Amino acid sequence: QVRVRFAPSPTGPLHIGGVRTALFNYLFAKKNNGVFFLRIEDTDQNRFVPGAEAYIMEALEWLGISPDETIGKNEKFGPYRQSERKPLYREYADKLINSGWAYYAFDSAEALDAARKEQEAQGNTFIYNHTNRELLDTSLVISAEETAERIANGDAYVIRFKTPVGETLHLQDIVRGDVKFETSLLDDKVLFKSDGMPTYHLANIVDDHLMETSHVIRGEEWLPSMPLHVLLYRAFGWDAPEFAHLPLILKPVGNGKLSKRDGDKLGFPVFPLEWKTEEGISSGYREKGFFPEAVVNFLALLGWNDGTDKEIYNLDELVAAFDLNRVHKAGAKFDPEKNKWFNHQYLIKQKDEDLAKAFTPIVTEKGISTSEDKLIKIVSLIKERANFVSEFWDLSDFFFVAPTTYDEKASKNWKAETPALMQELISVLKEITDFTSVNIETIVKDWMTTNEIGMGKVMQPFRLSLVGALKGPHLFDIVELIGKEETISRIQKAIT
Ligand code: GLU
Repeated sequence: QVRVRFAPSPTGPLHIGGVRTALFNYLFAKKNNGVFFLRIEDTDQNRFVPGAEAYIMEALEWLGISPDETIGKNEKFGPYRQSERKPLYREYADKLINSGWAYYAFDSAEALDAARKEQEAQGNTFIYNHTNRELLDTSLVISAEETAERIANGDAYVIRFKTPVGETLHLQDIVRGDVKFETSLLDDKVLFKSDGMPTYHLANIVDDHLMETSHVIRGEEWLPSMPLHVLLYRAFGWDAPEFAHLPLILKPVGNGKLSKRDGDKLGFPVFPLEWKTEEGISSGYREKGFFPEAVVNFLALLGWNDGTDKEIYNLDELVAAFDLNRVHKAGAKFDPEKNKWFNHQYLIKQKDEDLAKAFTPIVTEKGISTSEDKLIKIVSLIKERANFVSEFWDLSDFFFVAPTTYDEKASKNWKAETPALMQELISVLKEITDFTSVNIETIVKDWMTTNEIGMGKVMQPFRLSLVGALKGPHLFDIVELIGKEETISRIQKAIT
């Protein structure tokens, strides 16, 4: 059975890259009738941020990609929070000690620092591995008795992995194909820390094994950890899951990786939900007015496509089309403008009733009370021009309030003869009984043709009187919606 996981560390809000990882895991699981689970990797107590875990869960829920198993939900292989699995990791660290795959290291931070400096002074980079194991303070150089004694005395120690020397690992990655690593160049990574907690590496492997993870789908930044992870599976005598490392998400401009700081610097969210700290607020897609479906859609296309030009997919369509083998190797450029376009596509697909409902609080806040019917009509007229509901007011304020200023450039169309023409127009409008868009248009245009009045001479000042600028939807739709009385009063106001 396919079982995949999203395994974030609760060190802050979930970055959009993390969300993409969660999404690809979700899609892969659903595509294969598998299970998508969420594990919280909170073993690094120094980097723990309160609220981050709840944020992650809320974000996935908002996006509609909640896990099948997690804390408090179908805890088949629980607990799903690593800090609650603490005793387990010690047991597995001991197994590796006993089998000779790991060792105790007693080096103090100062001693390590000194060793590093000494190596650097000789022009070498310091790697904690086979090249200097003998020089360091580890159970590899002292006797078993001495080791036991020092541990009993309460000496601080870590447990390190004893990386095999001189082996070339040829590993398979679903996205990257063959990847090669030289074990001699790897660090003897810490597996178990002096604070009694496992490191990410140990906890991650133990849990992926115990939780029966079939595929590890994660960001490319974890590719360098892949050889250690594969060696750990070997050390435990377990089958390794398959790996897929997803391409980086790149800044809109240049080639760097999109960072958490880019968003507010460049004016677009890099977080699904808003995140507030004492230092300030980082904006979120939800609060900016993005539809979750739009966010899911654009994230799915960051590093994947189905080989066609299709761009708009709902979640079910994504599940059906998704193929891990089609994930790109190259980094995917993040394009805030395109993201707005996606939102527009979802906005125009909403029911006008729903858009009107979303618009209501904005209108109310402006001190305007209006009928739902009118809002529905207005929304249907302006939505083509909007990416967000929050833009509705600026696109439609003239439906609710008469203009107080007139666009200066457009006023150039206001000629000496205009007031007289507008006066005539008022007389024409007054006579219309069926005050509906098409009928008004027919009558007004008839009047213009009969009297040989040029279109521009009437239409532009007419629009300017009603809207205050030469913008907005079809003029006669506006006329119908604001009604006869208001139309006439606005023209009157404009000519006086
Ligand atoms: N806890 C790691 C992270 O924060 C998980 C990496 C992995 O998926 O193995 O991204």
